Amino acid sequence: MGIKRPGYLLQGLLICSECRYAYYGRTTRQRGAGGLKDFTYYRCSGTDGYRFGGERICNNPQINGEFVEVSVWTKLCQLLKNSQLFEQQHEQEGEIARNPENLEPLKSELRKLQRGVERLIDSYSEGAIDKEQFMSRLNRTKDRIADLEARIRSNTDGTDRRQEIRNLVDHFRRFADHLGRGLDEIDWNRRREIICNVIERIEIGRSALALIFRVPYGIAIPKENPIVFTLPRSLKG
Ligand SMILES: [Zn+2]
Repeated sequence: MGIKRPGYLLQGLLICSECRYAYYGRTTRQRGAGGLKDFTYYRCSGTDGYRFGGERICNNPQINGEFVEVSVWTKLCQLLKNSQLFEQQHEQEGEIARNPENLEPLKSELRKLQRGVERLIDSYSEGAIDKEQFMSRLNRTKDRIADLEARIRSNTDGTDRRQEIRNLVDHFRRFADHLGRGLDEIDWNRRREIICNVIERIEIGRSALALIFRVPYGIAIPKENPIVFTLPRSLKG
């Protein structure tokens, strides 16, 4: 008999990123070199034909239970011990800018263009330019204004996002301090408790796992744009 497992460590947290049904844990007994051995895996409910009138609705493959449990737990321990990793990953993915643009020159150019529009309207109303000239200059200026506004907006969003991530990182740091140093030695039940405390769900895609973190009360991270950490789905990458 293999080691008795109290349950499936990630049960209830795994979701298929293709059909959105849950992945659930299963164990089969397999004959290996050393006799009978338990093999644990998680599979997508969408691949069970019997649940859907005989025809499966998904073909996202099952995933090795030990592999996914160990990868998630190891990554989580790393993140709790070194929460800077969050900021690094989000910088690498370009979600937050490494060097945010200085917004002042952009804003002053925007003001100049807006004054330009007013002058253009004056010139047209005074008859200094004809309608065709007026329209073509107006459209050009409006395009430039839209570009600048988009650049300013994306920078501002990035700054807010960075602050949100920092807040979350601070939260994790306090949580990790509270757990103390024994993170590596704690038992199965405590592991499960920590995982459920920190992770809202794990989405299983074809090539990657996405860990979606819970957002504690008081941190302004929108549900539709959560903090995500991705891991390769297999050792091959
Ligand atoms: Zn599926």
